[in-house]
Amino acid sequence: MKKIDPSLLAIAFSHKKLCTRCGTCVGVCPTRAISCDEDYYPVLNPEACTECGLCERTCPGGRVDFKQLTELTFGHRHDTHAFDGHVQRTYVGYGGDDKIRKQGAGGGVITALLWDLLNRGVVDGCVVTRIDPQQPWRGQVYIARSYEALRESQQSKYMIIPVNEVIQSLLQLPGKFAYACLPCQVHGLRLYLAENPEFAKKIHVIIGLYCASSLEPFVAEEMLACKGIPFQTVKNFNFRGGQWPGRIRAILKDGRIKRLHYSNFKDGAINYLTYLYSPERCQTCIDGSAEFADISVSDAWTRDETGKYLFESHSKLIARTDLGVTTMLEAISCGALIAEDVTQSRAYKTHKLHTVKKGMKAPLRVARLHHEGKVAPLYDRAAPRASRADIWAERVESAIMALGRRRSTRMPLFKFLTSRYGTLFVKIRQWNKSRKYRNK
Ligand SMILES: Cc1cc2nc3c(=O)[nH]c(=O)nc-3n(C[C@H](O)[C@H](O)[C@H](O)COP(=O)(O)OP(=O)(O)OC[C@H]3O[C@@H](n4cnc5c(N)ncnc54)[C@H](O)[C@@H]3O)c2cc1C
Ligand code: SF4
Ligand code: SF4
Ligand code: SF4
Repeated sequence: MKKIDPSLLAIAFSHKKLCTRCGTCVGVCPTRAISCDEDYYPVLNPEACTECGLCERTCPGGRVDFKQLTELTFGHRHDTHAFDGHVQRTYVGYGGDDKIRKQGAGGGVITALLWDLLNRGVVDGCVVTRIDPQQPWRGQVYIARSYEALRESQQSKYMIIPVNEVIQSLLQLPGKFAYACLPCQVHGLRLYLAENPEFAKKIHVIIGLYCASSLEPFVAEEMLACKGIPFQTVKNFNFRGGQWPGRIRAILKDGRIKRLHYSNFKDGAINYLTYLYSPERCQTCIDGSAEFADISVSDAWTRDETGKYLFESHSKLIARTDLGVTTMLEAISCGALIAEDVTQSRAYKTHKLHTVKKGMKAPLRVARLHHEGKVAPLYDRAAPRASRADIWAERVESAIMALGRRRSTRMPLFKFLTSRYGTLFVKIRQWNKSRKYRNK
């Protein structure tokens, strides 16, 4: 078999643990020498590889150069070092179309923005994801070109989908496209846009999702197995189905809906899932807000003093670039997006836990792993100053997440935590949260 110099290849071929499974290497390879295995890790066909080095240069797995990405996105090299990144304007809102709003994870704002661009003919298609109709426990990327096709993409699929593999198809297609994706996928895409200026002309706008962590692509399969639901009976899978903030549930072919947790998405299962199913690479990821998107979107988890959510079915939007601001204002002016400008209001500085996770624990973990001689991504951002409590918090979180690496510990734990008895933990967490809000 032909030997390829690993230093010319994307990180999965030398350090698999560092691969985010963003799909960039699959999408950009000019000879289609890379494909995905069943867990979406890249696989190389050495005979087809010409050692051009493109997959290495566009891979965001092993290192992320924030200054370089800042220059590619904003035209200067000043890194903010802040969790929210570069911000021009902040809005809170929801989709103007009632169907889009109701079906969205957080008010359907991403779909509202995409539909507005498609409807006005600014773009010819949108890169989005959906539950795979053939295997309704997995996600897949596709290009939506109509209202109906876009609505199929709604809802967050909290699991790995190698979105950037779609670059392979986009290269063959005429027209302009809008692109919705996670922070690591934005990194890979920005690096490729810089490599291929002709392709860059096709990508009109990048909408990024906030991301505390994705989950292993087999998470839905294991949840169904835990609850004894046969795969062949499943028609669809929702992480946030029904009334906001939604519930994890399976829709069966006979029309029945099976809830996979007693509590709702936000207060219940997602907290366990992000411990038990968080991929190792996500545990060392420090971009939580899609810092290099034109517009970033997150849930608007702002609460009042009693701990009650202020904005049901809303999302927070951050416009980072001039294009991001224009896209948002155009959608607002034609009613596609109903949104309030909250740029000056401190009340909208949400995501406290997310900021700690990505701004403190993840960089501390990266520094610790490097210190222990283990592999971890390289960043041109140093870890923040940490207290003894921060250092312990990182260690404890890492130890809990290690329990999720083996199926033999993961499955029984998940089964217990999502059972009737596990709701006790949900109640304690809710009580603790509302106590904190009351004491504010
Ligand atoms: C893995 C993941 C982690 C997230 N973590 C956070 C978080 O920590 N904090 C937070 O505030 N928000 C997070 N979000 C974003 C949040 O869940 C909502 O997606 C967001 O508020 C937008 O809601 P919406 O109603 O506007 O989107 P909708 O109108 O429902 O559209 C959803 C859009 O997201 C895209 N999408 C869904 N799943 C994926 C995926 N796996 N990969 C790439 N694109 C996808 C769809 O293609 C679609 O375009 C996360 C989303 C994902 C997918
Ligand atoms: S480009 Fe993405 S999928 Fe490919 S090796 Fe790098 S991180 Fe993994
Ligand atoms: S041909 Fe180039 S892009 Fe494709 S695998 Fe080889 S080095 Fe990577
Ligand atoms: S946590 Fe980071 S590496 Fe993981 S999916 Fe989200 S953006 Fe990508």
